[in-house]
Amino acid sequence: MELEELLKKFKEYSAQDTTVLEYAWSYSSEAHNEQHRASGEMYFVHCAAVAEILVDYKMDQETVAAGLLHDVLEDTKISPETFGKEFGSEILNLVTGVTKIETLRFSSRDEAQAENWRKMILATAKDIRVIVIKLADRLHNMRTLNFLPREKQLEISHETISLYAPLAQRLGIFQLKSELEDLSFKYLFPDEYQSLLTKVQLRYAMREKLLQDFKLAVETHLGGTQIPHRVLSRAKNLYSIYRKMLRQEKPFEEIQDALGVRIITDSIVNCYALLGTVHSVFKPVAGSFTDYIAVPKMNLYQSLHTSVMAASGEIIEIQIRTEDMHRTSEYGIAAHWRYKMGDKGADRHLDEKLNWLRQWMEWLQDLSSPREFIESFKTDLELDQIFIFTPKGEVKPLPEGATPLDFAYMIHTDIGNTCIGAKVNNKMSRLDHPLKSGDLCEIITRRSSAPKKDWLGIVKTAGARSHIRKYLREHGQLQD
Ligand code: MN
Repeated sequence: MELEELLKKFKEYSAQDTTVLEYAWSYSSEAHNEQHRASGEMYFVHCAAVAEILVDYKMDQETVAAGLLHDVLEDTKISPETFGKEFGSEILNLVTGVTKIETLRFSSRDEAQAENWRKMILATAKDIRVIVIKLADRLHNMRTLNFLPREKQLEISHETISLYAPLAQRLGIFQLKSELEDLSFKYLFPDEYQSLLTKVQLRYAMREKLLQDFKLAVETHLGGTQIPHRVLSRAKNLYSIYRKMLRQEKPFEEIQDALGVRIITDSIVNCYALLGTVHSVFKPVAGSFTDYIAVPKMNLYQSLHTSVMAASGEIIEIQIRTEDMHRTSEYGIAAHWRYKMGDKGADRHLDEKLNWLRQWMEWLQDLSSPREFIESFKTDLELDQIFIFTPKGEVKPLPEGATPLDFAYMIHTDIGNTCIGAKVNNKMSRLDHPLKSGDLCEIITRRSSAPKKDWLGIVKTAGARSHIRKYLREHGQLQD
């Protein structure tokens, strides 16, 4: 990747002046001058590759520049102050955000823990663009993982599949999510991956003919109508097929996986025109038609869905949508992030608000039960949560201002009731000391100890307060 190429790609979708981008390129290249990657390449190759991924997702200049610079604060002696003077607070904040996430190490195999970690990453990032940069960084690291020792490969793949792929999914960036999953799958289960890859390739080769026949039939029928369209076959996600096999306890040969086709056109009217064409050429499967254009999904996803029967008897699943709808479905939050530069930034704030809304909707949509829905609504919208580590490395979310006593009650009522002290980051701490995100907290207990009345003035969480009141009432120390 050369600078000229990056600029050319960037200018295809943005009217932003590229001075900052050019400066970021030379600055990063200079700053990482002495470093090499495990592959032996210059370190800067990684920074340029991350920037290229961000340009593929059509991100704004600040994000792409931050992508070029994302490792500068972590890997070089340049201070945040110096960096801020060079690039301004917006890019500084993006890079600091990425650097902060970099320091969070995750190793748990527990899904509930992974969920807390994902929340922590979101809360730490504050700006959604930080996450997009981090995902691009992880994607390039996964693409070049073969240069690392096996042990590192396993550790990074595990982290990617349990943290970053679901995060990409939450943000609706499905393309990136699939690639992260498949790359992790390849390192975590190399034999299963290889055998499945061979089978899938074979199946898709046989389907190539079906796809060609489909395209031809649609072309012929459209004849001279001049409806612009392109037909894509749905990308395969090996890991999701593998998961399906495990879930249904079936070998690949018995997994139903219909040929998926997408037809992309220029306008909503033409979506319906194409639907009419498809239905007049192929017999639709009864009950398979859903109109997500007239009634979009909660995450703003739009498309017409239908299934038809090919001459061979195979079912073809079809999605018809405009280019805009296609971008939303592939790029998710990243597709909406772009400021409308043509409007001289007038819509910037409106866009920002909409983005947050879309993001939370995407996030919420993914949760399974209504209770979870309400819970996450309560907690996720409070970005002022803090995250505290147990000595075992688990993460517990608490409200801002929470104390070691709140933490003790969060772990267990008995731990709270018998608490006599706490260590924060390995130093003895007062029980009313406000905790900070990332603190490691250890509770010291004594079996004979009991809650004190003045604790009610210390705790910040409703849970801890009610446990203390309950104990005091039961022991005649509190009348109400
Ligand atoms: Mn990096």
